[in-house]
Amino acid sequence: MTERGPVRAVDGVNFVLKKSESLGIVGESACGKSTLGSALMRSMQAPGKVVGGSVMLSGQDVAKLSDREFTEKVRWKKIAMVFQGAMNALDPVYTVSSQLKEVLREHGYRGDYGSKVAESLKQVGLDPSVGARYPHELSGGMKQRVVIAMALLLEPELLIADEPTTALDVLVQAQIISLLKKLHEEKNLTVILITHDLALVSQIAQKIGIMYAGQLVEFGSAEEVYRDPKHPYTQALISAVPRLHSTEKNIRFIPGSPPSLLDPPKGCRFYARCPHAMDVCKSDPPEFPTNTGYVRCFLYDPTLKKTAD
Ligand code: SF4
Repeated sequence: MTERGPVRAVDGVNFVLKKSESLGIVGESACGKSTLGSALMRSMQAPGKVVGGSVMLSGQDVAKLSDREFTEKVRWKKIAMVFQGAMNALDPVYTVSSQLKEVLREHGYRGDYGSKVAESLKQVGLDPSVGARYPHELSGGMKQRVVIAMALLLEPELLIADEPTTALDVLVQAQIISLLKKLHEEKNLTVILITHDLALVSQIAQKIGIMYAGQLVEFGSAEEVYRDPKHPYTQALISAVPRLHSTEKNIRFIPGSPPSLLDPPKGCRFYARCPHAMDVCKSDPPEFPTNTGYVRCFLYDPTLKKTAD
């Protein structure tokens, strides 16, 4: 709910992610990516709330759990999240170690706090001595590693990382992404990476979901989405990525802006910006299967193709 009325920031999003897979959720600012992550983690800030849908985790719909059950059984233990800007939220007056131990205490961890904290710091490539330092004594990359260590303390099955490389320089960005990749591969961690950066996602994601105006407009294997992008928005997003050896002098961009979600179009939400828009697109865009997922675009409606032939 906003001052101007209710907004469905995420609407009609569905995807399947198997254990140990990695998914990149990509889209421009304010498309609902972070809200999707917060909804999965049940960390929406009031007055935001989840009004429907299901989240199946190991055969259980965790969206149906009470808040208490979710906190006891799922939050941090099965699903953990590195929130956007979390490294700047580290408490400046406590050492890294005491902040990590606080998480263990809050969640009733029964083992030895000191060795768990040391193990967690090592896991993210930090020397355990970093635990004795205060956040202001660490670089941005080290702080981001600390928040990842914090998220992994209770050994979750799924880690959601929301823009984990924002505000870091490119070298540190690459280090953080390779750390996530290593954790994903070596620890069989299921990872959802939320970002606006398609190039970044290509380094880690096995599956990609493209979000636009609160909806997932295309979902599939990373290979299919990169090699054969179907939705006109995905195509525009990929062609907007600057290439090192391109002879093009101008950077391509997508004209226009996303619709207001206070009163979204009934049909395809990309209609006003789409070079292929047809009358039929004004009705609800359906979901058509692709080789590895789906696309929400009438260009892939087999019945329309038949008519055109
Ligand atoms: Fe364009 Fe229509 Fe496809 Fe929407 S449904 S992306 S308007 S062709």
